[in-house]
Amino acid sequence: MILKNKLGGKRDKVPIIVQKYGGSSVADAERMKRVAARIIEKHGQGFQMVVVVSAMGDVTDDLIETAKRLSASPPQREMDMLLATGEQQSAALLAMTLCETGQPALSLSGPQAGVISDGVFGKARIRRIETERIRKELDEGKIIVVAGFQGLDDNGDVNTLGRGGSDTTAAALAIALQAEACEIFTDVSGVYTADPRFVPRARKLDSVSYDEMLEMASLGAGVLHPRSVELAKQFGMKLTVRSSFNNEEGTVVREEQNMPGELEKESLVCGVAKDLDVLKFTIFGVKDAPGQAAAIFSPLAAAQVNVDMIVQSGAANHLQDISFTTGKADKGKAVKVLECFIANAGAERYKIEENVAKLSIVGAGMISRPGVAAKMFGVLAETGCNINIISTSEIKISCIIEAEKAAAAAGALHTAFGLDAQ
Ligand code: ADP
Ligand code: ASP
Ligand code: MG
Repeated sequence: MILKNKLGGKRDKVPIIVQKYGGSSVADAERMKRVAARIIEKHGQGFQMVVVVSAMGDVTDDLIETAKRLSASPPQREMDMLLATGEQQSAALLAMTLCETGQPALSLSGPQAGVISDGVFGKARIRRIETERIRKELDEGKIIVVAGFQGLDDNGDVNTLGRGGSDTTAAALAIALQAEACEIFTDVSGVYTADPRFVPRARKLDSVSYDEMLEMASLGAGVLHPRSVELAKQFGMKLTVRSSFNNEEGTVVREEQNMPGELEKESLVCGVAKDLDVLKFTIFGVKDAPGQAAAIFSPLAAAQVNVDMIVQSGAANHLQDISFTTGKADKGKAVKVLECFIANAGAERYKIEENVAKLSIVGAGMISRPGVAAKMFGVLAETGCNINIISTSEIKISCIIEAEKAAAAAGALHTAFGLDAQ
């Protein structure tokens, strides 16, 4: 809300560029120096620079591993205290690298940068950004390096924004500062029709609409944090996804645009996404009565479990089976809720399937075109995939299948929908 109000008039000051560098882009000293050179070059073109960084390389994973060795279920507050340090390290190191060249630079943690979050440890949302400090430092000629993925809540505690959340810090800063551009630098040259690590025939997209990107990101295309796209769409901030390892153009994420002379979209499907971060829960023998679904999903929501697909199917004797999916990190919280529900509501039992993946096709052009779903199911059948759950929206179709078959099936769908690079 507050971000929106800040979008009021145009700034008459020096234009600001927000750049974000992901973990692999700042993984070691050499890469830090390359990133610093890129930032200084842009600064030299007359922009004020605000740079968001992720933790170096695998630092976040390593911190999580260390915590797990010491505690089976560490308090979320302490996890956030710990994980926020990864980004703070790289911010300080990048600021030093910049200063070393003679360029004044200053690192700020999320809280120092005025990022105010909502208090949900591990998956906090940014409520607003108080930009006074950043603006003051920018006006003194400094390049500002902000630790991504973190904010300060009303209790004065550090919150993290969820894995990949530095993209969201960057988008939010770009909006709050009314930046000219928000550039997300990563280890691939842009957004591809599928993850190029798994589908070598994937093609780089010159542009992709917010809606398509939001679906792709939410469905497992880890190149952008979904909430960064959500924010960008809400405030009309263009995002450019580029490689920090080359000078290619990258992909622009923006409002849907048809090609000149093209009234309706030619291509049906713009991408294939695969998500291995899926758990499938089934509760058997739920009473067929009003209030049962609410008695399951309200406590799941209260426990901050993100539920994705939900299917209810009739069993015998007025009983229902209910299946739903979540991310793997929510397993412990979901199990607690289900055990409590089964004890209180007299359902029979529950089962967890861990070895599953969600495979999706995305495309704004598939609205009201018949046969897209049928074609997808045909390809999955040919690849020997048994479909567990199906969910559709106007611009995507997702299927839960066995995890081992997901990579091959993604490649087959990519080819079948005409996405392969020439
Ligand atoms: P960073 O640390 O820069 O944020 P990430 O690992 O979070 O980098 O995101 C970049 C990765 O996203 C790429 O290396 C690529 O494997 C993966 N990815 C998944 N889907 C896509 C896609 N459709 N296009 C591009 N990259 C994708
Ligand atoms: N370092 C965090 C992660 O690995 C946040 C980020 O990179 O955006 O998820
Ligand atoms: Mg990322």
